Amino acid sequence: MNLRRRALRFFAVSVFLAAAVGLAYHYGQTVHYCADISAPLTPLTPEAALNELRRGNLRFVNSRRIYSADTCHDAERRREISKEQHPFAAILCCADSRICPEFIFDQRAGSIFEIRNAGNVVDEDVLASLEYAVEHLHVPLIVVLGHKGCGAIEAVCEAGEAPLPHHLRALQMHMSGIREQAVLCRHRVDRTTVDRLAEENARQQALALVQESPVLRAAIEHKAVRLAYGLYDLETGEATCWNAP
Ligand SMILES: [Zn+2]
Repeated sequence: MNLRRRALRFFAVSVFLAAAVGLAYHYGQTVHYCADISAPLTPLTPEAALNELRRGNLRFVNSRRIYSADTCHDAERRREISKEQHPFAAILCCADSRICPEFIFDQRAGSIFEIRNAGNVVDEDVLASLEYAVEHLHVPLIVVLGHKGCGAIEAVCEAGEAPLPHHLRALQMHMSGIREQAVLCRHRVDRTTVDRLAEENARQQALALVQESPVLRAAIEHKAVRLAYGLYDLETGEATCWNAP
C-alpha cells in the first residue's frame, strides 16, 4: 500500500515536472519584442512625416528597428486600427519582393498607405489610390520610391526600341520618361546604368503625379502635401529621398 502510494506520488511529481519543463521551453521560444508605444505620435506636417521616414530608415540601416519589430502590442494595435486609419505617408514603390516599406522605414501597420507595382509606375489605379489617400485620409506626404537593381527597369533597358511582350508593354508605356535614355543604353545595360535610370524613373513618376492629377497638384501647390522621390539600396538598406521638382 505504502509502495503504491509512493509510486503514485512519483508519477504525479514526474507529470508536474514534465509540464513545467514543457511550458518553460514554450515561453523560452516565444520572444516578444516590446516597443514604447507612447511615441512616436503620427506626424501631422509634411516635414515631420518625411523626418520620421528618415529616422525610421536610419533605424533599419543600423539594425535597430523598433516599431516594425514590436510584437508585444499586436492585439492592441489591431484593435486600434480596426476602427480607423491615419497613415502619415503614401508610398508608391516597386512590387519587388525585397522592398518592404514598413521594414525599410521601421513603421507600424496603419502608418504607411502603400501602393506597389513593377517599376513603381503611375497609371490610373495609382492616381485613384493617391487621390483617395490625400482627399480622404489627409496624408501629408507622398514618396515615389525606386530601387537599385530593379528588374522592371532592366527589362525596359534591354528591350530598347522593341516592344516588351504581352501586358509588359504597358510598363514600357508608363516609363516613357526614361525610354529615350533606355534606348541609348540598350547595348551596355550594366548595373550602374540600371540604377541611374531607376532614380530617374522615380523622379519622372513623381512628375507624372503632378501633371496627371489636378487633385494632387492642388494639394502640393497649397503645401498640404509634400512630394518626394527616392532610391532604395538593396544592400545597405538606405533609402535616400529628395524633394520632387
Ligand atoms: Zn523593381
